[in-house]
Amino acid sequence: MTAKLIDGKTIAEAVRREAAEETAALKARTGQAPTLAAVLVGENPASQTYVASKGKACEEAGMGSITHRLPATTSQAELEELVRQLNADPAVNGILVQLPLPKGLNEQAVLDLISLSKDVDGFHPMNIGQLVMKGRIPQFIPCTPAGCIELLVRSGITIAGKDAVVVGRSNIVGVPVAALLQNADATVTVCHSRTKDLPDKVRRADIVVAAIGRPEFVRGDWLKPGATVIDVGINRIADATRKSGSRLVGDVAFDEAVEVAGAITPVPGGVGPMTIAMLLTNTVRAFKLQHGLA
Ligand code: NDP
Repeated sequence: MTAKLIDGKTIAEAVRREAAEETAALKARTGQAPTLAAVLVGENPASQTYVASKGKACEEAGMGSITHRLPATTSQAELEELVRQLNADPAVNGILVQLPLPKGLNEQAVLDLISLSKDVDGFHPMNIGQLVMKGRIPQFIPCTPAGCIELLVRSGITIAGKDAVVVGRSNIVGVPVAALLQNADATVTVCHSRTKDLPDKVRRADIVVAAIGRPEFVRGDWLKPGATVIDVGINRIADATRKSGSRLVGDVAFDEAVEVAGAITPVPGGVGPMTIAMLLTNTVRAFKLQHGLA
């Protein structure tokens, strides 16, 4: 069997187009555009790239984009003061503090400070709490997990009644994606580094979400034939055949998995592009909430 490819690039483009259309309509109605403020502390090159891509995506969608670049020597008090200013600024609809923060800064305290109505990354404990509580609706859903679900839904894959296995239990991916799958009526097993017989657990799944951070960790023979595989992993490995000397791979051994799965996301071009697309969706939502239009 050769799995159907779930094309995250095309689906992300559609989501971004919809965000741009909503932005144009909101601008016509209010005279203002949804605006995202990103805070980047320090010189982490990956973070610099992410923040630049997020700013560019906002501009392409007609949204406002403000980037605050702070030196790695910024104190906790200075960073918290900036977040307070952004919370109070009516021209800012969404706030994103790029993680990880440099050592010595208290990430948790900063995330807790972001106004709930501007928490477009969805990492505030209140948002995560509401996500995992039955019958509660969070203001915002974290972007990468929301992107995983959007890929399933827009690919016509039924979630309700399915057995899903999420490998990974981080606050930013594993835990929220498991909650979203459960909220969509899947029966969810969450696996982690202490899980016994991981291949056996994965083999039972109709839907597998891999968010581990280990290159090509999930093997093809772990999969149930026909399963849907959402590979969140982004790992750079050495590859002498490439000019750059390296290439990106996911947490799933794609060449093996594609022969067994029914549908699979590639890396790159699967979950990756969805994160920024869902950030735009969340920023539009923040604007609407703040203007009483949601
Ligand atoms: P974390 O390191 O925070 O979490 C990794 C999880 O994998 C942990 O729960 C850990 O278990 C589990 N794990 C580690 N080793 C094993 C193992 N041998 N067997 C089973 N489980 C294991 O990573 P993140 O969730 O932040 O990220 C996961 C991957 O997703 C990374 O490759 C990252 O780059 C990528 N990513 C991609 C995004 C995107 O597409 N936009 C966004 C965010 C992340 P335990 O809890 O027991 O330690």
